[in-house]
Amino acid sequence: MNDETLDPIVISEQQFDKASAYITDLKSGLIDYLKQPNRVHIINFPVELDDGSVKTIQCFRVIHNRVFGPGKGGMRYHPDLTIEEVTSLAELMTWKCALVNIPFGGAKGGVVCDTKELSLNELRHITRRFTSELFDIIGPSTDIPAPDMYTDEQTMAWIFDTYDRLNSGENNRPVVTGKPVNLGGSLGRREATGKGCMLATRRFLSKALIPEQQEISGARIAIQGFGNVGAVAADEFFRQGATIVAISDSTGGVYSEQGLDPEKISAFKDEHGSVVGMPETLNISNSELLEVDCDILIPAATAFQININNAGNIKAKLIVEAANNPTTPAADEILQQRGVYVIPDILANAGGVTVSYYEWVQNSANEQWDLEVINQKLQKKMFDAVDAVFELWQDCVVGDDLTQSKNNMAMQAECVPDFRTIALIIAIKRVANATLLRGIWP
Ligand code: NAD
Repeated sequence: MNDETLDPIVISEQQFDKASAYITDLKSGLIDYLKQPNRVHIINFPVELDDGSVKTIQCFRVIHNRVFGPGKGGMRYHPDLTIEEVTSLAELMTWKCALVNIPFGGAKGGVVCDTKELSLNELRHITRRFTSELFDIIGPSTDIPAPDMYTDEQTMAWIFDTYDRLNSGENNRPVVTGKPVNLGGSLGRREATGKGCMLATRRFLSKALIPEQQEISGARIAIQGFGNVGAVAADEFFRQGATIVAISDSTGGVYSEQGLDPEKISAFKDEHGSVVGMPETLNISNSELLEVDCDILIPAATAFQININNAGNIKAKLIVEAANNPTTPAADEILQQRGVYVIPDILANAGGVTVSYYEWVQNSANEQWDLEVINQKLQKKMFDAVDAVFELWQDCVVGDDLTQSKNNMAMQAECVPDFRTIALIIAIKRVANATLLRGIWP
């Protein structure tokens, strides 16, 4: 086992430092500000469980930056959640929103709990109490939660309802996104992150960086995680003509040389609670899934799955980061040396926050847009973001505009930055410029 830090704050800092080294006109004091969260909330409260016992629950909400607009970011319910992880995820949201040009800042939150051990009743109590504790923090114009791991439309419905009861007489629908459609949720929001991954991949492949794989059709795909994002991604890639050779969830994975039908896997998981055991498949572990022979690997579960220990064994030519933070900086270096491309999280999974933004706009205007309108807008956002990242990367490689790029960004490193670094350069520059345009207050 090789060693590398898995501290999310240190990793965010390493990624930021790598990108900001290319932006020489970034004021040093501004660098410190952009790396730090704006506000960190740690909240403890008691909850009564179904058996009458009382449990203290710890929750977090972190606002990283609000230069472009209200904080925006998911609520994660997980037993291993830490304030460090939430802080690093809030920072990612700042760069993600800036990269796809939506008027939100970055935030994230969550509850330290194991949803598999709680009843629906207990989850509702926790969510309502958490929302009431956050009442002065969240709001349609200040900070807008959304779903993340182990939260869903039902969780968002409880957040909306609790906030609405505490603030009656206002249009409170825009306080949270990812709601059920008949409570103001947007058509297409549930599918948006997985669909956005597919759209980003389609656009990326069309750039012909992988000459033998210029479209999704025919690609062999492995997906780690079969929740909201992974299951929709499987379906979207399948419908584009890809062969899904492997899929996993927290209990393990399955492999089929001939390919898996996402619909059948979903039905099997609904019935048995796991993808493992699906007929006519081979059982594999989550770590084996990452090293499976495939063209495109899609991590869609937790952080740091691709690290110094397995980056050298990954067979895929392209990694599409549906999950947040699935790859460590050491793995990034190894993958780059091996010629494996990575579409980074802030680009690959930005479809979710993009349609969350459309939900917020619809709620603010009391409108409901057609699915075609939403999907058209989503496709344009994803394609534009991939194009912006690709163009800057190409400038660095081809050298056409290298002199200009060098002048603009004073490229300091000898080697061409990877796509994560390029995406971060674009996002950090946008946030830094907006901060200075607004003027340092007072
Ligand atoms: P989810 O709770 O719906 O699903 C999570 C999936 O991951 C489940 O299938 C679970 O079994 C699996 N899993 C959990 N731990 C695992 C492990 N150690 N190994 C393998 N699989 C594991 O969550 P989701 O909303 O699909 O989120 C997945 C990832 O996508 C997270 O990193 C999240 O931050 C990111 N993301 C989600 C959204 C969104 O709109 N939901 C948007 C952007 C990014």
